[in-house]
Amino acid sequence: MTVSQDQRSTDRSGTEPDAIVIGAGFSGMYMLHRLRALGLSTVVLEAAEGVGGTWYWNRYPGARCDSESYYYSYSFSDELQQDWVWTERYPEQPEILRYLNHVADRFDLRRDIRFGTTVTRARFDETTDRWRLDSASGETWTARYLITAVGCLSAANIPRIPGLDTFEGQWFHTGRWPHEGVDFAGKRVGVVGTGSTGIQAIPVIAEQAAHLTVFQRTANYSVPARNGPLEDAALREIKADYPEIRRTQRASTNGHPFLISERSALEVSPQRRREIYESAWKVGGLRFRACFQDLLTDKAANDTASDFIRSKIRETVRDPDTAATLTPTDHPFATKRPPIDTHYFETYNRDNVSLVDVRRTPIEEITPRGVRTGQDVHELDCLVFATGFDALTGPLLGIDIRGTGGRSLGEKWAEGPKTYLGLQVAGFPNMFTITGPGSPSVLTNMPTAIEQHVDWIARTIDHMRGHRLVRMEASEQAEAEWGEHVNEVANRTLLPMASSSWYLGANVPGKPRIFMPYAGGFAYYAGRCDEVADAGYPGFAFA
Ligand code: FAD
Ligand code: NAP
Repeated sequence: MTVSQDQRSTDRSGTEPDAIVIGAGFSGMYMLHRLRALGLSTVVLEAAEGVGGTWYWNRYPGARCDSESYYYSYSFSDELQQDWVWTERYPEQPEILRYLNHVADRFDLRRDIRFGTTVTRARFDETTDRWRLDSASGETWTARYLITAVGCLSAANIPRIPGLDTFEGQWFHTGRWPHEGVDFAGKRVGVVGTGSTGIQAIPVIAEQAAHLTVFQRTANYSVPARNGPLEDAALREIKADYPEIRRTQRASTNGHPFLISERSALEVSPQRRREIYESAWKVGGLRFRACFQDLLTDKAANDTASDFIRSKIRETVRDPDTAATLTPTDHPFATKRPPIDTHYFETYNRDNVSLVDVRRTPIEEITPRGVRTGQDVHELDCLVFATGFDALTGPLLGIDIRGTGGRSLGEKWAEGPKTYLGLQVAGFPNMFTITGPGSPSVLTNMPTAIEQHVDWIARTIDHMRGHRLVRMEASEQAEAEWGEHVNEVANRTLLPMASSSWYLGANVPGKPRIFMPYAGGFAYYAGRCDEVADAGYPGFAFA
C-alpha cells in the first residue's frame, strides 16, 4: 500500500519530514517504500546522482554479483519478482543497476530522494527528540527518525602509498569507477589487490590491456562461478518456486536458498570427500561453502577444503612458482569473504600477465612512471586499486554523528563498534542502522538481511507511533551484552583466524581489531529480533 501525499503527517517542503534515510541503495529504497506505506513523510539523502548504491559506484570491468541473480533481489513484492527477467546466473553491474532503477520507477521512489546530497553531520536535539542533519552543500533537515542505509562496503579504502600524487598515469579505485569507463587497450596496467573485486577484474583487464601486473599481498582461495545465461525454462521454474526459495533463504544461516550440509567433512572417507568437493567445484559458486557443516568451525575439516582448492590452483597455473605464490597459506578457506571467479587462476597462464608478491617485496612507493617494490620499478600507464573498503563502520564514521550530551559516534566507537542487535546504538536515540555492525549483514546474501532489518525498523516505528512514543534508545546494558554475544559467537568459529580480514577491520591502518558482523546465523538472529519486538522491546527504553 502506498500512502497519498495528503495522508502524510508533516511538512511538504521536505525539510522537516518524519524520517530521514541516508543512502539510496537496496536498503534505503526499501526503507522509503515501507515508511511511506506507514504514512510517514520520508526524505532519502543520497550522495550519488542516482539510485543503486554499490551498483551505482562499482562499475569496474567484470563487476557482477556472487549471489545468484534470482535471489540477489527484493522479495517484498511478488509482482516485482514475477515480472523482472534476469538474464544470467550472476548478472553484471549494469543489469543490477537497471533492476534497481526499475524498482525506483515502479514504486515511484525518486520524488522523495535528494540526489547529489552528502550528509556531513547529524545531531540529536534532546529538547525536541529530533535529528538535525547537514549536507556538504549547507542544507539542513530535521526528522524524528534517522535511518542510516549507508552500506557496509561504500567507503573506498585507498592505501596511503607515498608518491601516489606524483604518478603520471591514471589511477582508479574500483568502488569509484568512472561512468564513461576506462580504455585499457595498449596500456600497461597494474592492479593492487586480490579480494573479490580484484579476482573479478583481473581476468577482464588482462584481456584488454597490453600488459597487466598484479600486486598481491594475500593469496586468496577462489571457486569457479560457472556463470551462464538463465534459460527461460529455468527462470519459469524459479518463479513458480519463489515462495519456497524465499522461505529457505529466511530459514538459512547465510540468507542463501541452500542449506549447509549436516555432514562433517571428517565423517566421510577421503575419496567420498573429494567427490563431494569435485561435484561442488563443477556446480561452482558460493555453494561450495555448504559442502560440510564444520568448514567454519573445525580447523581439520576446513583443511580438507583449503587443500582441495590449493590442489586446483596447482593444477590450473602452469608455472609452479606463480602457482605457489597464488596459493593461500596464511588463513583457512572462507575465513575471509570467499571470492568466486571466471578464469581467475587461468589468467596467470597468459603471456601478458605478471604477478608480484608484495608480501615478500612490499610496495615502497609510487613514482611518476609506476610502482616500486624493492629495487624494481614496474612501469605503468594505469593503476587500479582493488583495495576494498573501510567496511561497516567507515560510512557511518564518515558522518559526524552526535547523540545525547553531544557525544560523537567516533568517540563512542573508539575501541570498536558497539550496537544492540546491530540496529541501534546506546546514546543515539531514534537512530536505526540498517545492516550495522553486530548484525549478520556481510556474512549473508545482503538483500535478505536488508529486508529483515527494514521490516523490523518499520514495525518498531509503527509501534512507537501507535503508542505515541517519541523516543527510543538501546540501553548500555543490552548493548554490552549483545557485544559480548557477538564476540563469543565469532570466537566459536574459525572466522577470527584470518588476521588480515576486513571483517576484523584489519585492512585499514589504525582501525580497532574487532570482529564486526554477527556470525550466529541469519535465521537465529532474525528470530531473536522478532522475540525482542514481540516481548515489548526489552533492552530499549521509550519515552
Ligand atoms: P549501498 O549499496 O552501499 O548503498 C549505500 C548508499 O549510501 C550509497 O549509494 C552511498 O552513496 C550512500 N551514502 C553513504 N554515505 C552517505 C552520506 N554521508 N551521505 C549521503 N549518502 C551516503 N552482497 C551480496 O549479498 N551478494 C553479492 O553478490 C554482492 N556483491 C557485491 C559486489 C560488490 C562489488 C560490492 C562492493 C558489494 C557487493 N555486495 C554483495 C554487498 C553490497 O554492498 C550489498 O549487497 C548491497 O548492495 C548493499 O546495499 P545498501 O543499500 O545497504 O548499501
Ligand atoms: P578486499 O576483500 O578488502 O580486498 C582488498 C585487496 O587489496 C586484498 O587483497 C588486500 O590485501 C589488498 N590490499 C589492500 N591494501 C593494500 C596495500 N596497501 N597494498 C597491497 N595490497 C593491498 O576488497 P574487495 O575485493 O573490494 O572486496 C570487499 C568486499 O566487497 C568483498 O569481500 C565482498 O563482500 C564485496 N564484493 C563482492 C563482490 C561480489 O559478490 N561479486 C565483488 C566484489 C566485492 P590483504 O588481503 O593482504 O589485506
